[in-house]
Amino acid sequence: MEIVLETKSLTKKFKNITAVDNLDLVVYKGEVFGFLGPNGAGKSTTIRMLTSLIYPDQGEIYLFNKKLTANSKSILRKVGAIVESPDFYLYLTAFKNLEFLSQLYGINPTRKQIMEILDFVGLSNRWNSKVKTFSHGMKQRLGIAQALLHDPDLIILDEPTTGLDPQGMKEIRELVISLSKEKGKTVFISSHLLYEVELIANRMIIINRGKKVVEGYVKELLNEEKATYNFRLSNIERAKNILISLNFELNHDFEVNGNEMLISTKRISASQLNKIFVENGIEVFEFYRKRTLEEYFLEITRGQK
Ligand code: ADP
Repeated sequence: MEIVLETKSLTKKFKNITAVDNLDLVVYKGEVFGFLGPNGAGKSTTIRMLTSLIYPDQGEIYLFNKKLTANSKSILRKVGAIVESPDFYLYLTAFKNLEFLSQLYGINPTRKQIMEILDFVGLSNRWNSKVKTFSHGMKQRLGIAQALLHDPDLIILDEPTTGLDPQGMKEIRELVISLSKEKGKTVFISSHLLYEVELIANRMIIINRGKKVVEGYVKELLNEEKATYNFRLSNIERAKNILISLNFELNHDFEVNGNEMLISTKRISASQLNKIFVENGIEVFEFYRKRTLEEYFLEITRGQK
């Protein structure tokens, strides 16, 4: 898989706060990558470094396999972003705004290309309306249109659905999906809402206090049918053999870590497993169901605004 974006030990400090702490991430071509974390986790700070609005204290950023440095901003031509709420001229039409911004970026799209972008974001019927008549959701979609003007390969969206009503959120989600599915773009999207990321991303990471805490394929992370249990046992070797005899595969259905065992299964309940261990002379010191991602995310989000 081709890597589009990579960070290595990315770190940014503000006085005594480490906003981004040794963050390693990899984004592959064509995927929708969810960058999830509660408020204050360090998402915007990361995105501002990715788009060269601020510079890291430590670590590196690679975009399209090239290292991003203060004097290599040309790589950013392949990146389209909405970082803060985009500013538009409220008294100009949607079309005129895009035309004006194109000039500002030194690009020269044809009228047809601008209309195609407006159509893609669902604003073609309002192309000639002043932006001051637009809803918040329409402005956000015009923001995405603005980010697409130079036909970037990677699109970075910082919490694009914040402040939108459910319908507006849905429209943005559909846009993100078609950017990836229809246009083959790579999308990096941040959010503080787990369900939103679940609905659109292939892969995601969760950060908290600037550090990565969870990473993986969304489908796998959210496979809640498959319960995961943690067992602390007196005789791990024997337990291992019992599980193998029950057709559990080591490092796939279960993992061993010291005198603990992590078992993932749809077939057997924790109390049945407990019974099997006890009947085979193994002492079960403790067992519990591992928290689901939802529970985990709620816990790190607790106490947040
Ligand atoms: P998120 O986007 O996940 O909500 P931010 O990246 O905005 O989080 O913030 C991460 C942490 O860094 C927070 O504690 C925030 O207060 C702090 N922070 C962000 N920008 C600045 C800044 N310019 N000066 C000082 N602290 C900042």
